[in-house]
Amino acid sequence: MHTQTLGILADGQILGMDREIFWTMIGWLANAIFTSRFLVQWYATEKRKEVTVPVLFWWLSLAGALMFLSYAVNYDRHHVFIFAYAFTWIPYLRNLVIHYRHKNAQKVCAQCSQTCSPKAIYCQSCGAKLPEPGMA
Ligand SMILES: [Zn+2]
Repeated sequence: MHTQTLGILADGQILGMDREIFWTMIGWLANAIFTSRFLVQWYATEKRKEVTVPVLFWWLSLAGALMFLSYAVNYDRHHVFIFAYAFTWIPYLRNLVIHYRHKNAQKVCAQCSQTCSPKAIYCQSCGAKLPEPGMA
């Protein structure tokens, strides 16, 4: 019987590959992405000589977790593995939302163009008064 779902599944194959090979590749790619986030975090920490979690860590965490969840739901189908990745993506996504909100809320000094914290009242570089939140 010929089946076609979303144009990628046909006769037990996904993108022209055997289903098992496809999901094994996804599983190993998820492993590589999930593991690489620790190398990224370690490198950033060594470079700054203080514990640092770069934004790339959260992107790699989100991508790896979603790939593991997809693998678990579509291939492994064991409730322990599915549960292990069912909710981990939530804090990764939340950290990304908070990061980009904070980044977009930063204030730019009109005097010296220094980028300052959203909560800063005065420029950390030249001491000029920064605009209040919500003001241009
Ligand atoms: Zn300034």
